[in-house]
Amino acid sequence: MKNQLFEKLNAAFEDMQVIRRHLHMHPEVSFHETNTAKYIQEFYANLGVEYTANVGGNGVVARIKGVFPGKTVALRADFDALPIQDEKDVPYKSTVPGVMHACGHDGHTATLLVLGKTLFEMREQLSGEYVLIHQHAEEYAPGGAKPMIEAGCLEGVDAIFGTHLWSLTPSGTVEYRVGPVMAAADRFEVTIQGRGGHGASPHQTKDAIVIGAQVVTNLQQIVSRRVNPVESAVISVGSFVANNAFNVIADSAKLVGTVRSFNPEVRDLLEKELERVIEGTCLANDCSYEFVYVRGYSAVVNHEAETLLLKDVAEQIPDIKEVRETEQHMGGEDFAYYLEKVPGTFFFTGAMPDGEVYPHHHPKFDFDENAMLIAAKTLGAAVIEYQETEK
Ligand code: MN
Repeated sequence: MKNQLFEKLNAAFEDMQVIRRHLHMHPEVSFHETNTAKYIQEFYANLGVEYTANVGGNGVVARIKGVFPGKTVALRADFDALPIQDEKDVPYKSTVPGVMHACGHDGHTATLLVLGKTLFEMREQLSGEYVLIHQHAEEYAPGGAKPMIEAGCLEGVDAIFGTHLWSLTPSGTVEYRVGPVMAAADRFEVTIQGRGGHGASPHQTKDAIVIGAQVVTNLQQIVSRRVNPVESAVISVGSFVANNAFNVIADSAKLVGTVRSFNPEVRDLLEKELERVIEGTCLANDCSYEFVYVRGYSAVVNHEAETLLLKDVAEQIPDIKEVRETEQHMGGEDFAYYLEKVPGTFFFTGAMPDGEVYPHHHPKFDFDENAMLIAAKTLGAAVIEYQETEK
């Protein structure tokens, strides 16, 4: 059955390319993807596939039933773009000023649409049910995954699979990993309220720059001295603003930073320690502060059985040259929320283009379109194999 799926996907590669290029030319930023959602709805409507629109926002969920009984497996593709000006010189360049598919979500969508069409055409041979989750707003927290789950997109789902095309990994490579693969990504802001004054009379002030500098330095001891060294964690202060004149002592200072972790216990510890260090430093300096900690996406934690199944099927796909374990990424992904509800795996499909290679979110980002075919085959083979093993 897998060979038939592969042949059908090979024949549909041009369709995939056409869809991807259309989406690439008409990108929409997170939470504003109404035309993209409409495009997806029309695609399924034309095929006669049952779907639900406006799931938790702009999300679209299609359902395909095989004729034989079996499990319910979900596949997810995100479809939002980024507020970046497209600087590529290609015929399918973005037509929307300042907006661009700079992370490959156009490719994810084209992959899932064509795979969905193929599964629908093969429904007379398939077991179980396939839930195709087209998710809006991956790029912008709080993201689209959470509201889609709350709206019921995972109802009855036994397992989920998803992939990210990756321009920095050679095309023809599939990367998997059991356990945590992408980090929890949080944000914090501290405003230190000192007392401003004349630069010549520091004894009459509470210098917010000096206190802020102590906070930045003291925060460095959380990861190095509070977190167990076998765990991973990052605290980075990315902004320190205390504007003033050369002869004026700053009244207040604002620090903004990011916190990354994999283990939920480490995440709780980081949040607690951050506030303790800020509170202590401000207490020692007799000043007040305001602290805001905003939790972003949770860590993406892959389940073992589904990840190993994915690895096994990928190793049997002729187009794939290498299947290897990926490093952990400190970037965030709201696929995390699906994996908190149901078992599954999120893997990377190598999509390095010929010529110059740019990272994701770069104004010249592009990927090798052949990788969409590999992604579709890997996802398709995984769901077919899942039905076989769960019989
Ligand atoms: Mn992405």
